[in-house]
Amino acid sequence: MRQPMVAGNWKMNGSSSSVKELIAGIKDGMASVTKAEVVVCPPAVYIPRVSGAVEDTAIKVGSQNVCDQDKGAFTGEISGEMLKDVGCEYAIVGHSERRSLYGESDELVAKRFAAARRNGIKPIFCIGETLQEREQGITNDVCSRQIDAVIALEGVEALADGVIAYEPVWAIGTGKTASPEQAQEVHAFIRGKIAALNADVAEGLRILYGGSMNPANAAELISQADIDGGLIGGASLKAEDFLAICSAAE
Ligand code: PEP
Repeated sequence: MRQPMVAGNWKMNGSSSSVKELIAGIKDGMASVTKAEVVVCPPAVYIPRVSGAVEDTAIKVGSQNVCDQDKGAFTGEISGEMLKDVGCEYAIVGHSERRSLYGESDELVAKRFAAARRNGIKPIFCIGETLQEREQGITNDVCSRQIDAVIALEGVEALADGVIAYEPVWAIGTGKTASPEQAQEVHAFIRGKIAALNADVAEGLRILYGGSMNPANAAELISQADIDGGLIGGASLKAEDFLAICSAAE
């Protein structure tokens, strides 16, 4: 039985005061979340503050990226060791905004995945197709290629150390959600692909859906057989909405 997981990607939003308020609001509602694993991924500068605030709770903290290198002249990057040092248990890697806006290739994402692992951080490994790719009928090929980059570098067993987030690019921040059937179809493909290499890894691997998930559509999406939770952007910025999604995952 895979434990459901709900992770909030706060992206580049917030201030000292709004972050304090948001995390306090999530903490307040956590009594009703008993089964789902809850993770928040604040902007890097707020990670220490959030880590401190959730110390006595079940809420876990993640970063929005991690450097592929461990130390030295990599201006602007943050190493896995540093993230671990300030309380991160998870790190998002390969978010579509990083891939499309900052040119992160499959190979670089795989190296970031590897860096997270070797520093004891669990990667939240994002994959997904653009609208054009979906219309071309190559959704599965794109997801496969993105996963293969990690398998080539780290081996299929490495996937067991993190989670995959299937995020169709056309659904991120657009208000257009994949239908439960569309999402399930890709999740089943992903699990099947991994099962062909290692059935145990596939069975235990959590595959989250991400893309305009909200309190109104979360339950139906997460009730699909191969959807084990959600990676939430916009709706993770309101404690009430985020908590409603956590409840739906239960
Ligand atoms: C995301 O950025 O990972 C995401 C899923 O965003 P949103 O929920 O806003 O579509």
